[in-house]
Amino acid sequence: MPEGPSIVILREQAAPFAGRKVLRVAGNSKVLDLQRMRGQRVLDVKSWGKHFLIAFPGFAIRVHFLLFGSYRINERKDTAPRLTLTFQRSELNFYACSLQYVEGELDQTYDWSGDVMSDLWNPRAARRKLKARPRMLVCDALLDQTVFAGVGNIIKNEVLFRTRVHPESTVGELPTRKLGEVIKQAREYSFDFYKWKKAFVLRKHYLVHTKKLCPLCKIVLQFRASLGQSQRRSFFCDNCQRLYA
Ligand SMILES: [Zn+2]
Repeated sequence: MPEGPSIVILREQAAPFAGRKVLRVAGNSKVLDLQRMRGQRVLDVKSWGKHFLIAFPGFAIRVHFLLFGSYRINERKDTAPRLTLTFQRSELNFYACSLQYVEGELDQTYDWSGDVMSDLWNPRAARRKLKARPRMLVCDALLDQTVFAGVGNIIKNEVLFRTRVHPESTVGELPTRKLGEVIKQAREYSFDFYKWKKAFVLRKHYLVHTKKLCPLCKIVLQFRASLGQSQRRSFFCDNCQRLYA
């Protein structure tokens, strides 16, 4: 599943479509009236967490890539696209994704301060939201899109290792300073992810995600196929990541 930084990269790649008019629309979406976008001019391309947004006058289309979604710009895959937007001499193709219309202004729907990649990201608001959920496991808190929009499973695992926090720690038991570190790293690691992903070197920077050995302790990492309410894969070190519970 693409995490927030990957959607920012898509947003940047799609930025030249702003101001351009959709000439043709195609796709295999069964639920949406895709033709609504035909003849409309793109006002802006935006992202919020894992949502990619194409704004038109009065509405926007929201693309969520779920587990296996993908996109191509001015290229096509062999499979049928969920959505193709054709412009003069260029096109946007989206595959295996979820589509939804957002009515009205995006500012009314989206709280940009909750997006870890946004210029408007507000760490204090994140802290406030976490304080209200003291019994939540920190592995679930990091994946909570209402707190950390854009954080996915890779970022979660790496942030918990960077901050030396065991994934089964509860939010309320984390010392104030530790909680601050987790919040800070949720953003900082996301920007590292973005930089590495753009340079095609993300994978080789993984310290624990999909790894076997703790790079610090040189002992075997713990692996859980589905941890917490979120039931996502967790990789962590029992020795150097402390359990606050
Ligand atoms: Zn370790």
